[in-house]
Amino acid sequence: MSLPDPQGNDDRDDSLPFERLLAEISTLFINLPADRIDEEIAAAQKLVCAHLDIDRSTLWEATATDSEVFVLRHYHQPPSLPSPPQRMNAKEFFPWISRQILLGETIVISNVSDLPAEAGRDQETFRRYGARASVLVPLRVGREKVFGVISFNSTQRERSWTMMEVQRFEMVAQVFANALARKRSEQDLQERLRFETLLTDISARFLALPPDRVDDAIEDALRRIGESLGLELCLLWQWSEETGGLALTHLHRSRECPPLPSPMDVDTHFPWARERIAAGEIITVSSIADLPGEAARDLETCRRIGVRSLCFLPLSAAEGTSFGAVSFCCLHEQSAWPETIVSRLRLLAQVFTNALARHRADRMVRQAEQRLRLITNALPVLISYVGPDLRYRFNNEAYRTWFGVDPESARGRTIAEVAGEEFFRSAKPYLERALSGEAVRCTLEGLTVNGRPLSLEAFYVPDLDERGGLRGLCILGLDVTERNLALQEARRLQDELFHAGRVITLGELVGTLAHEISQPLSAIMSNAQAARRFLAAPAPDLGEVLEILDDIVKENVRAGEVITRLRSFLRKENMEVKPLDLNAALREIAVLLRSDARQHGITTSLELDPQLPAVLGDKVQLQQVMLNLVMNAFEAIKECQAPERSVRIRTWSQGQEILAAVTDSGKGIAPEEIEHIFRPFYTTKPRGLGLGLSLCRSIITNHRGRLWAENNPSGGAIFYIRLPAAPPANPA
Ligand code: ADP
Repeated sequence: MSLPDPQGNDDRDDSLPFERLLAEISTLFINLPADRIDEEIAAAQKLVCAHLDIDRSTLWEATATDSEVFVLRHYHQPPSLPSPPQRMNAKEFFPWISRQILLGETIVISNVSDLPAEAGRDQETFRRYGARASVLVPLRVGREKVFGVISFNSTQRERSWTMMEVQRFEMVAQVFANALARKRSEQDLQERLRFETLLTDISARFLALPPDRVDDAIEDALRRIGESLGLELCLLWQWSEETGGLALTHLHRSRECPPLPSPMDVDTHFPWARERIAAGEIITVSSIADLPGEAARDLETCRRIGVRSLCFLPLSAAEGTSFGAVSFCCLHEQSAWPETIVSRLRLLAQVFTNALARHRADRMVRQAEQRLRLITNALPVLISYVGPDLRYRFNNEAYRTWFGVDPESARGRTIAEVAGEEFFRSAKPYLERALSGEAVRCTLEGLTVNGRPLSLEAFYVPDLDERGGLRGLCILGLDVTERNLALQEARRLQDELFHAGRVITLGELVGTLAHEISQPLSAIMSNAQAARRFLAAPAPDLGEVLEILDDIVKENVRAGEVITRLRSFLRKENMEVKPLDLNAALREIAVLLRSDARQHGITTSLELDPQLPAVLGDKVQLQQVMLNLVMNAFEAIKECQAPERSVRIRTWSQGQEILAAVTDSGKGIAPEEIEHIFRPFYTTKPRGLGLGLSLCRSIITNHRGRLWAENNPSGGAIFYIRLPAAPPANPA
């Protein structure tokens, strides 16, 4: 539908009453699509002017960003008159009138010259554009905010407007206002939708973005927002880790925008804004002229770039972490930054914040992993992490040297695939224990990729969540091959040394031991000769001969016993640890010592606890210690002339420990030497080696026990041995 043509086509009807015209115009607008409203307003304006004898009419709409800046939408006037400006700031052109218009009042001016003195600026504008009388009606819907103004002017003469005329102008203004309001709200809605779609688009893009594309995506988003909202300069600032200031990291600059100072940072160029951003404030500055005095530096920057209005929004996450700020600048006009725009920019800031937070978290995870890799690669230890499926999630470089596997390619493969089936089989029982939540330490044997035998001390440490569920296992492996070989060698050398110690000790006993053997031998000899004599008699007493033979057997047993002890004592065997009866071991040595004791008039007493628990140890080594201690005791007695010459050998138990002591009535030990005597090669004897006690201490320490010496208050020395009792035998 179109309105009747006022210039007089076929259906022109000059007598159409105004009410009918108005009714038709109103009806026309009811279902008119929004994009046709403007063209129909233009037509209607022309028609109304013709009808009401108006030679000039202008219709202005406030801009979206500033309610006092008006854009000329429609005008109707004779071609001879100067065209009105396309855009006007009401404060500059009509300061007096616009104040009232914005309050919603109609202004009726019959003669422009009658305007009051304070409306001088307004008067001037009227004159410049040739208006002599004018009615100005605000455009608004109900009591809502005025969003425009329509003027009806007479350019030929002054005119006193009738009440009826003014009412008609107001009615026309209302019809136009309604139509325009509908157009505006539809446009608004569309714009909101467009913006929301843009925002959703941007957020969605950030979601699945690889870290190296985040920067491009931020710049692209700034460009799209800038273009969509007509903002020439959009900047993103982030806190710099080096300087602690806000540095410019991303920007969109329209073609009209001059180059920015470089480098640019908030601290230098917008110090006033920086303080506010740090406090989490949003800053909107409609006109840079409104910047406070203390923002002189900020103002200078704006002037340099040509910024006329600007808005800063902090980028802060909900939990308070601040990532920086975004700022948007208008260069071509001032912007009042209405709430509709600011709320959209806030949403955008949120999208950026989320993207930066995710980016930062990703970066931190990557850095942490790099650090972990650096540390774990520097260690000569096999380090990995497997999931509950025993597939590797992390491996260090040691996997390359030990198993010939690239740590990256090991990820996702099973232990059996990487370390070999055989190795996995030996590790499996321990892995199963670790999978059930127990921290396991074990030694595994295998081969490296070069075929070198490998002894691995492995630690399987379960990684449990708060509820005790297994997340995976941390695996550490130490190559103990060389350590084990060195240990074996050390043990062998030690055994040799202990053996040498025994040889030396027995060497010292050789004289008395020869006596110990030769005595029974000569007894056997004289018994055998006696038996012979008996048997040579004409009527031999066989009972007597039998007794002699019994004696021979006894003496033989005695000599045999000494030889057996000697042999077992001199045997060169590896240390064999098992529960043993210390008392019995002591009795055996007593056999080797009795001649020596007798020869030097020393009484040896054994006070052995019959309830003594077993001790865990090597029998020969413990005998070696006791023999040494007793022989030292004999020597200490030989060296002094004390009337009492005795050595006591005692055993007893105390809790889970077994104690043995050798007490002598010898010369005792000088207090300052009591610790020195255990040092190797420490001796006070002219022909001593000084090795006995140091070997004894090594042996006892190897048995997790302790050997020490004290002086007996009544004279002589006491050597103590403390050893852990063997755990009770398993009833099974
Ligand atoms: P060696 O018997 O060859 O000297 P040891 O290591 O057995 O080597 O003894 C070191 C020193 O400890 C002895 O030279 C002696 O001075 C002192 N010593 C050992 N046992 C006794 C003891 N029962 N009484 C006094 N001194 C002792």
